[in-house]
Amino acid sequence: MDHHGNGETGLELRLPPSLWAATARPAPRTAKLDSDIEADVVVIGGGFTGLRAALELAEGGVAVAVCEAGEPGWGASGRNGGQVNPLFNILPEEVIRCVGPVFGPRLIRAVIESADELFGLVRRHRMVCEAEQKGWIQAAHCRPAIGVIDRRRRGWSQAGADIVALGKRELRERAGTAAYDAGILVKRGGSVQPLSYARELAAAALGAGARIYHGARAELLRQERTCWHVRCGKFGVRAKFVLLCTNGYTDGLWPGLEETIVPLISAQAATEILPESTLAEILVNRETLADTRRVVFYTRKVDRCRLVFGSRGNSDFAGGAADIARMRAGIARVFPQLASARMEFCWSGRIAYTPDHLPHLHEPAPGLLIGLGYNGRGVAMSTVMGRVLAERALGKPAEELTFPTTPLRRIPLHRFRRLGVRIATGWFGLRDELDRRISTLLHRR
Ligand SMILES: Cc1cc2nc3c(=O)[nH]c(=O)nc-3n(C[C@H](O)[C@H](O)[C@H](O)COP(=O)(O)OP(=O)(O)OC[C@H]3O[C@@H](n4cnc5c(N)ncnc54)[C@H](O)[C@@H]3O)c2cc1C
Repeated sequence: MDHHGNGETGLELRLPPSLWAATARPAPRTAKLDSDIEADVVVIGGGFTGLRAALELAEGGVAVAVCEAGEPGWGASGRNGGQVNPLFNILPEEVIRCVGPVFGPRLIRAVIESADELFGLVRRHRMVCEAEQKGWIQAAHCRPAIGVIDRRRRGWSQAGADIVALGKRELRERAGTAAYDAGILVKRGGSVQPLSYARELAAAALGAGARIYHGARAELLRQERTCWHVRCGKFGVRAKFVLLCTNGYTDGLWPGLEETIVPLISAQAATEILPESTLAEILVNRETLADTRRVVFYTRKVDRCRLVFGSRGNSDFAGGAADIARMRAGIARVFPQLASARMEFCWSGRIAYTPDHLPHLHEPAPGLLIGLGYNGRGVAMSTVMGRVLAERALGKPAEELTFPTTPLRRIPLHRFRRLGVRIATGWFGLRDELDRRISTLLHRR
C-alpha cells in the first residue's frame, strides 16, 4: 500500500505510530482508484461507521464502494482506546427530551444493546481483534460526581442496562487504584484492539463484495439529476446514494456539516512492557476504566503487560512532548505505582463533539446520508450508526430508523472553535482538579 502525506490538506495519510499500529492484524488488500467507476452506494470515510455500513450493504447485495483518504481505520477508529462503552453520559429521560417519545426509547435500547451488537458482529464474522466483554468501570473523580454516577446507574438500570455500584474498597480491589471513592460497573461493556477491529470490518466487507479504495480523498461531491458524483483526484465514483462517514475529520465537502460538530483531540500513551506482577492488581478482571472528569481520564490494560492511558491531547496525530507529560501526570494520579513507567507510544486523533451529546443522522438531500458525532463513545455507537445508514440506503423509511433524521444545525461562533476548545479544556481541567482537591479536603475533616 502506498502512503502519502497530503500537501493540500496538511493531513498525514500514514497511520500514527501507535501501539495499535504496531500490534494490529495485517491490513486487508484495498485498491487504488485508478479509473472512473459506478456503484449503488458510495461511502466516504473508512472508519467503523463507513465500514459497518459497507459490510451491511454488501451483504444486502448492494454494489458499494468505500473511498477512504488514508487507509481503513486511519481516523479515530484505528487510534481510540478500544473501550466499548454502551452508555451515554446524559440520562435516558434527557435522551427522550432531546429526540422525543418515538425515537427516545429506540435510541436508549440501541445504546444499551450497542456493545452486544458489536461483540455479536465480531463473533459472527470471526473477527480477530482481541474482543473481550469484561465490563466498563466509570469512576467518580470527586464527591459531587458520586451523585452524578449514582443517578446515571439508577436511570440507565431502570431503562434495562446491567449496572452495579462499586465502593472505594471494591474499586481498589478490582481496579488497583485508590484515586476514586466510588464508581459503577457497566457489565455489557468491553474492549477491542481498535485498528484490528477496523481492519477486520474492512476484510469482512471486502469478503462480502464491497470495493474499498485507499488514498481516495473525496474532494468534490455533486448531485447530477438522479445520481451523485464523488470526485477523488483524477477519478470518481457515480452512485445513487452517498454515505458521508467522516466524523471528527469532516471538512467542507458538504456545506455546513463541519459547523455541526466540534472536533476535539484525544491522546493516549502506552507504557513499555511491564512485568506481569506490576499490573497484576490493576483492572484484575480486564475491565476498562474511564472517570467523570470533564477532561476525562480513560485507561485499560493490554496483553497483561502494558497500560494504555488517555485524556485530552494537543497534537493531532502523533502525541507530542506535552501529551506524553499529561499522560504521565494522569497515570501518576490514578496508578502512582506506575509513575516511573516509560511511555513507549503516544498518539492522538479527533473525536466529534455535539452540543446535545447525541450522535446525529442527517439526510440533507435525497440520497445523501450522514452519520456522526459520537462524543467519544463511538466504538459501539458508530457500529450501530453504520448499520442504520445501511438500512436507510436499503429503503427503510426514515421514521422507522433508530436515530431521528435531523437538519444540520450550525454551532454558533463555530469559526472560533479552536480558541474556544483551548480555553474550555484548560478551564475544565482546572475545575476537575479543584473539585478533586476540595473533595479530598472536606472528606479528611
Ligand atoms: C484517541 C481517541 C480515543 C478514543 N477512545 C474511545 C473509546 O475508548 N471508546 C469509544 O467508544 N470511542 C472512543 N473514541 C471515539 C471513536 O474512536 C470514534 O467515535 C469512532 O472511531 C468514529 O468512527 P468513524 O468511522 O465515524 O470516524 P473515523 O474513524 O474518524 O473515520 C473517518 C474517516 O473518514 C476519512 N475521511 C475524512 N474526510 C474524507 C474525505 N473527504 N474523503 C475520504 N475519506 C475521508 C478519514 O481519513 C477517516 O479515516 C476515541 C477517539 C480518539 C481519537
